[in-house]
Amino acid sequence: MDPDDTSTGRAGADHPEPASARGTRSRWLPVAIAVAAALLMLAAVVVVSDLAAGDGDTASDITPAADPSAPDSAATALRDSGAQLATVDCDPADLRQGRDAARAYYRDVLDCLDRAWRPVLDRMGVEHRPASVDVADVRTTECGELPPADRALGLYCDADHTIHLPYSRLATAVGGTDEPAFLATLAHEYGHHIQALTGVFTEAGNAMSDVGAAAESEVGRRFELQATCFAGLFLDAARDTGLGDPSRGPEVAVQDFADWSGVESHGGARLQQQWASTGFTGDSVAACDTWSARAADIGGAGERSGAPASP
Ligand SMILES: [Zn+2]
Repeated sequence: MDPDDTSTGRAGADHPEPASARGTRSRWLPVAIAVAAALLMLAAVVVVSDLAAGDGDTASDITPAADPSAPDSAATALRDSGAQLATVDCDPADLRQGRDAARAYYRDVLDCLDRAWRPVLDRMGVEHRPASVDVADVRTTECGELPPADRALGLYCDADHTIHLPYSRLATAVGGTDEPAFLATLAHEYGHHIQALTGVFTEAGNAMSDVGAAAESEVGRRFELQATCFAGLFLDAARDTGLGDPSRGPEVAVQDFADWSGVESHGGARLQQQWASTGFTGDSVAACDTWSARAADIGGAGERSGAPASP
């Protein structure tokens, strides 16, 4: 993967690591946003490789098929389940300035995410393991070194199901504690957590192991766009609650994805927002089947959407 494929906007970035890189990188599912999207790819990539190596209590235990688009794969099983999220009532702590306030906000929203996604995991027969969030500016995690701030805003570490969102990184990127951005990013990262628990994460990594760079990027974009679609599903499940804008609710976070870039890694701003909307208006996880979506809907080299400058 080309770590330098994102030049503008906020790039979410977590891709499964190809098998060829197993054991050579720390495992990260970088989340986010930052100046360079590439890093994200590294993170996700790393995570998967370690998962595939089978160390510890990870999604690799699910032993998914190698191809996420295969009829009997974890990805298709998730789609065919037609599972729906539970409607949840969320009233998180106010997102004020500062790390402690961000931590409290994230934890409250994580509780909502856990409750909303539980029926899906139950339908899939998957053990539910809550995700945790860490807002500290840590240098090392269970998945290895945290990429530098100019490479990633955050990461999902599958080794301990921790979403790392160093407060200073996202706050700097968005110019403060902007709730739509914080909410969208957390919901997207939680989407990777769902992918990990259901086996899609490992499956995507396996699918990337034996293909060329172009196909590898395509798998990565399907992976990222699905996580964003999953974020949209959650935002819809929490539609009538205290999340987001007082008048528009969590829908404002759907619009935040229009600020995400990373064309090669994440599909660009237009497709990020498109898939977030698809989830927001979708009825079930079936709406988020990026694995069988047309090429035009998952982007690529020809997709150069107008991502705004980095906030
Ligand atoms: Zn991601």
